[in-house]
Amino acid sequence: MAGDGTRAGWVGEPVPERDILEGFDRLIAANRLFGAERNPSVLKKSGKGTAFLVRKHPSHHRMLSAWRALFACRVAPEEFLGLLSPEVLGLTHGDGLLLFGGDRVLYDCQILRGDEAVGHLTLELYRERDRIVPFLPFPTRPGRRVVYIEGISLTRQSTGYASALFRRYERLFHDLGFHLFRLKASLSVGKYYWAKEGFDCSDRTRFQEMRDRLWDQVRRLGLPVSEQEVRRLTHMSDVAAFRKDLKVPVWRDAEGYYTFERDAAHPEEVLFPLGKAFLLCSEPWDGHKVIYTDTPRRTAFIWSEGYLSHGTPAGHPEGGKRLTALREAIRREGLLESLIVMEPYVPPMEALHAVHDPAYLEAFREAVERGDRYFATRDCAIGAGSYPAALLAAGGVMAGIDAVFSGRSDNAFCAVRPPGHHAARANAMGFCFVNNVAVGAVYARSACGVARVCILDWDVHHGNGTQEIFEEDPETLFVSIHEHPSFCYPGTGRRMEKGKGAGLGATLNVPLPPHAGDRDMIEAFEREVVPAIEAFRPDLILLSAGFDAHRDDAIADLECTEKAYIHMTRRVLELADRHCGGRVVSVLEGGYRGDSLVASALAHIKTLQGREATPCSSAGG
Ligand SMILES: [Zn+2]
Repeated sequence: MAGDGTRAGWVGEPVPERDILEGFDRLIAANRLFGAERNPSVLKKSGKGTAFLVRKHPSHHRMLSAWRALFACRVAPEEFLGLLSPEVLGLTHGDGLLLFGGDRVLYDCQILRGDEAVGHLTLELYRERDRIVPFLPFPTRPGRRVVYIEGISLTRQSTGYASALFRRYERLFHDLGFHLFRLKASLSVGKYYWAKEGFDCSDRTRFQEMRDRLWDQVRRLGLPVSEQEVRRLTHMSDVAAFRKDLKVPVWRDAEGYYTFERDAAHPEEVLFPLGKAFLLCSEPWDGHKVIYTDTPRRTAFIWSEGYLSHGTPAGHPEGGKRLTALREAIRREGLLESLIVMEPYVPPMEALHAVHDPAYLEAFREAVERGDRYFATRDCAIGAGSYPAALLAAGGVMAGIDAVFSGRSDNAFCAVRPPGHHAARANAMGFCFVNNVAVGAVYARSACGVARVCILDWDVHHGNGTQEIFEEDPETLFVSIHEHPSFCYPGTGRRMEKGKGAGLGATLNVPLPPHAGDRDMIEAFEREVVPAIEAFRPDLILLSAGFDAHRDDAIADLECTEKAYIHMTRRVLELADRHCGGRVVSVLEGGYRGDSLVASALAHIKTLQGREATPCSSAGG
């Protein structure tokens, strides 16, 4: 796994094992290190709420092997206890114990204000072996390091202590190479609090049921909320922040639990914003939060099984295998541990109508429902699932934009299909039906307060659909670098196409001659693309990332390799850092040969994560 030994900060060279063993001995002598019995049949709940039985410590050999598995010996025991108990907001930890139970290490302490105990905290640290994020459609690699928040209780709520402490812990466990926080969000206030802190519901079926219940509640109360608004909630933090403008009544009991229905036990009425009210009244859920581990940038990976339901006939270049191969390679490479895997949502029709003619989309839907074999042109093959898949592809880009603007990730790669850059306002062509990147650009403008969007298209084919949609728009810079239209589909994208009307100058086409390779691509990119983006100063960069300019991809005649994609990705990140807080949302377009698509997309994703350490040698501007 990359990055394990390369983190910055205080975590440096491994501590000699002798020092770790001596540290254990000192803690044992000070009565701060024990064994913990975690077998549920002998579990004892003490007055403090500790769900384990304290026993004599296990052998030094077993403790050391647990320490190795969890920390790669990069921290000594006493140092670790010290790091777990910082003074935060005037509160300290007392009676901090380290316990070894089976393969786990536990930390248990009292939370003190001065000498007075005001709360209690228990953490469990372990490596998870089985499938741990149930919504992932494929098994994850074993060995994720997990911090289980067994419980944090405070006598007084809303002190801000837990938030502040867990921010510190996130940094600490990040540096120690941990991957996830887990917890059970069970208390009334806790469910809202953890959602607000970025914890998501781990069981996706459960999450969807909760979303359905929210929709039921909205209808029952007759609230002015559309079903689409509810459907695009994909994370518990979305729910927590949902429709803060709408205050709804909930009923509180003496212990501080809430319901939507008034009854004898819940007599007290309180008004809360819709999302908060809903979470306060919801059932407990199991939550998790990714601790961003071994990459300098946090990259969201948007993916759905739904993208496979766009069926094309055997032999058609644009098939579901493209995505399954990429997904499998991402798993095999162990990238899932550091990507923020996110689901797309079905976008509201208004978001699509902002780009496409409603009658055109309706004709597409009807063609799919009629069972037609293709739509508009012969190369646009369709099957029963093509319409919903095409909508979901646009919704994938929107989810990527949400991730970047909510701060959940720094950038995003949307592994969507069908592709989109040939689709125009009222026209399907070149395997494309809905212009995903265009829908994303318009959405970012309407929902995220973005003014200037740059769309950079490095698919080997000219992004004629995107160009047509934005050619009169001076606020959208469209840059396409592609094989020359005299030799390559779709026959547009000449230099003289520079935009129209108010948008004149906001379109840049950089055609390359057949057989151009990495050097030509990179040279043209540095000479023309970089200065154009630099001058435009975008608020967001969207990439139409096709990987069919690869020399192994037979669909066209350019001869690039992963090198060109790595270079361009790095430079785009530099530009984004300078102008738009690093916000890049990359959207898959073409790439039709399995191995070159996978190798190029992997290199691109790793670069988005900031994994390549060496600076860009030919950086000229
Ligand atoms: Zn292409």
